[in-house]
Amino acid sequence: MDEAWVIQAGDTLSGIFSQRNIDVATMNAVLAADQELLALDVLKPGNTLYFEQALTSGELLSLSLNVHPGKTIHYRRLPDGSFEFAEEIKPSRWQQDVFSAQIRGSFYASASQTGLTDGEILQAQRILEERVNFQRDIHKNDLFEIVLSREMVDAGATGQTRIEAIRLQGAKLAQSAFLHSDGNYYNGNGESLSRAFLRRPTQRNYRVSSPFNLRRLHPVTKRIAPHLGVDFAMPVGTPVLSTGDGVVSRIGNHPYAGRYIEVEHPGHFKTRYLHLSQVQVQRGQRVSRGERIALSGNTGRSTGPHLHFELHVNNRPVDPLTADIPTATHIPANEMPVFRNRVAVLMAVMDNSEQLAASMEPNVHGAGG
Ligand SMILES: [Zn+2]
Repeated sequence: MDEAWVIQAGDTLSGIFSQRNIDVATMNAVLAADQELLALDVLKPGNTLYFEQALTSGELLSLSLNVHPGKTIHYRRLPDGSFEFAEEIKPSRWQQDVFSAQIRGSFYASASQTGLTDGEILQAQRILEERVNFQRDIHKNDLFEIVLSREMVDAGATGQTRIEAIRLQGAKLAQSAFLHSDGNYYNGNGESLSRAFLRRPTQRNYRVSSPFNLRRLHPVTKRIAPHLGVDFAMPVGTPVLSTGDGVVSRIGNHPYAGRYIEVEHPGHFKTRYLHLSQVQVQRGQRVSRGERIALSGNTGRSTGPHLHFELHVNNRPVDPLTADIPTATHIPANEMPVFRNRVAVLMAVMDNSEQLAASMEPNVHGAGG
């Protein structure tokens, strides 16, 4: 039987492993398997670990991390004592809801009253931050609608949400945002609301020493294992640039990934930069596209000086060199018919919600301040 360990604030992997009498060598073997995911590097309170240990020896046979009801990561011991990982993703569907209200007080206070979480409100503000000053431009009686989808599996909500559309309307305000299939937000005319991404995290184009590959033969372990980023060979000390505007969400020092940085970008993008020699930003710091955030290095398990660069779209790693990411400021002409249809559908959803709000709130169309 697997034994469950619900992660509490302050728990560390080494602390949990030592309480379960699992030795450091085994923990390092698990961390090696986690190098591509870094899922165990930051333990989230409320997530659950499941330990399967041999009855007599107590040897760790498998470890599973339940991230949310739709996602579990399994680390399994192989005959040679090393571990491999496998992700178990449950089929999910997205359930759409509309949150709408008239501004009373701040945007935050009004949005909060509709039931949106702090994280969702912050996300909405980030999506429109290039166009709207949420302190200055929003006034009493302005209207907003947010179409939000929640990911559901049979066991319930996974906790993953995404904003599909936002509309702000007022006496001096008319802004909207729509999520496109590339993970970026555009106004109704297909113009990007945030700046495009750089394709590569360096000033110059360095040689790709190992491409993104879901079935790579690992250079050190000689086993088939996914390589969820792209490696660029470059001298230690090469400036590493954030490929997009964003916020530094994680800084780590991992025995295999080395010193690394994770940046969250508006929309549904995340980037990671591994094996760094020097981190030049702090957690929570805002960075802009092309800003220097680190110097490349050779830290962790590495066969030579290089930068391992990852791009995640909707929490899934993709090939940064070929992924459909916003590198231009407008949706390509051939994608516009599909985008326009989607905008029309979402506008209708928001119009309906506005009528509903109006029928319950007689002053909904009153003069804006
Ligand atoms: Zn790599």
